[in-house]
Amino acid sequence: CGIVGYVGNGIAKNAILKGLESLEYRGYDSAGIALIENDHIFVEKKKGKLNNLIEALKEKEINSNLGIGHTRWATHGEPSDRNSHPHLSMDKTIAVVHNGIIENYLELKRFLEEKGFTFISETDTEVVAHLLQYNYTGDMKETVFKTIKQLEGSYALGIIHKDYPEVLFCARKNSPLVIGCGNNENLIASDVPALLNYTRDVYFLENGDIGILTKNNIDIYDINGNCLIREKTHIQWSL
Ligand code: GLU
Repeated sequence: CGIVGYVGNGIAKNAILKGLESLEYRGYDSAGIALIENDHIFVEKKKGKLNNLIEALKEKEINSNLGIGHTRWATHGEPSDRNSHPHLSMDKTIAVVHNGIIENYLELKRFLEEKGFTFISETDTEVVAHLLQYNYTGDMKETVFKTIKQLEGSYALGIIHKDYPEVLFCARKNSPLVIGCGNNENLIASDVPALLNYTRDVYFLENGDIGILTKNNIDIYDINGNCLIREKTHIQWSL
């Protein structure tokens, strides 16, 4: 039920774990993280409390500057390590975290299975990772737009690709997602508290918005790829 993503000069792992902690109040049954590390995607995910994930990561020094994290409230597939997010595409080039429900996942799953994709979880979310791989044109931005157009239902999505170690992709429809504008770092989160250690300047994404973030830039688009001007909100309250 929570998403945090980080791109910037800092250690992504720390920002994401801290952010997920501040979203714990939303409730969840498992937690996971994906980080871009030397040309591949590192993933760790654990059923149960966030502490299980933190414990599993303890010995691991990962100085990645880009990653996504998730706390899950299972809707499709029981709470388990395997069903926890992030989910990887079959070729392991793309990782996805998702809040919400992909209503047409069965139809997409059947289509992808016919194309030779195998599924390792029972979630609705896994179709998004495979569909991104299937649609991949060599241009991830174009691929994200094409893929989002094929999804029905509700989603806040965080997406990374191993060949884009400086880009964080996100999208939302009927599930909340906020972008935080930091200094040489930008973040996404399902709610403001996860951002407040880094910034008070945020964009509340609207339904249908797609965001592309690097450490020094934030672009927000509509589903057709038109660049949008969204107003920045300065958060006055503190935790
Ligand atoms: N529907 C997805 C799942 O069951 C996402 C659940 C969530 O919003 O945490 O894995």
